[in-house]
Parts: sequence; structure tokens; C-alpha cells
Amino acid sequence: MPDECIFCRIAAGEAPADVVYEDENFIAFRDILPQAPTHILVIPRMHIASSAELGRGQEQLAGGLIIIAKSLAEKEGMAHRGYRLVINCGSEGAQQVPHLHLHLIGGRQLSGALG
Ligand code: AMP
Repeated sequence: MPDECIFCRIAAGEAPADVVYEDENFIAFRDILPQAPTHILVIPRMHIASSAELGRGQEQLAGGLIIIAKSLAEKEGMAHRGYRLVINCGSEGAQQVPHLHLHLIGGRQLSGALG
């Protein structure tokens, strides 16, 4: 676990977060600067810098992010209204925190603009 990684520290319980889900392999918590009424980050506990680091054999890990986000969207009452799932990757993808995370964003009408 890189000591300087804030998401590793959250996963280890060493940094505060509003945790909404956790299991052996994943943890989900509310974004500190929410872009919508619901803005949750789902992360693997394992430090993986970005989606660019994913390889064959990590299908369960990659898919788990989406399945957990889908369940949280239901809990947040967004399943029928719709929501957005986003993974930013690297510099041009505007990734700020170098620990793989899936954004679950919703609770308001989102624009079509992604850029
Ligand atoms: P990204 O641009 O995809 O790397 O997004 C990183 C997200 O992490 C941003 O939406 C930040 O607001 C959020 N964030 C950064 N630090 C924390 C933290 N300590 N707790 C919760 N969310 C955070």
C-alpha cells in the first residue's frame, strides 16, 4: 500500500471518509466535492493506479466496480431515474487521484457533455 495514496489510506481506515459500502475487496465512499446530489466513488482495496494498469485475470475486480455501483444506485433511489458511471484515466482523462475508482453520479439531470 503506497503510504501517500489517500484512497489506500481510506481503504485502510486511516483517513476519514463517508463510507457507504465495503467488503473484502472493495470500498465505496461519498466524494468530498460532490458534482451531484449523489456522488460516490467505488474503489478496489488493492492499489491499482488506473484502468490502464488492469490486466487479464482482473475481470472480477473490474466488473465488481460496476456491480457495486449499480447496487448503490438502487439504494440511492436512482435505478429508474438514471445515473452516470465514470472512470477517468491518466492525464488527458483528467484523473486526479492515482488509485482506480469508479464515479457514481446522479440525483439530478446530467448534461450530455462529457468533456
Ligand atoms: P478523478 O478526477 O477521477 O481522479 O476524481 C477524484 C475524485 O476524488 C474527485 O472527485 C475528488 O473530489 C475525490 N476525492 C479526492 N480526495 C477525496 C477524499 N479524501 N475523500 C473523498 N473524495 C475525494
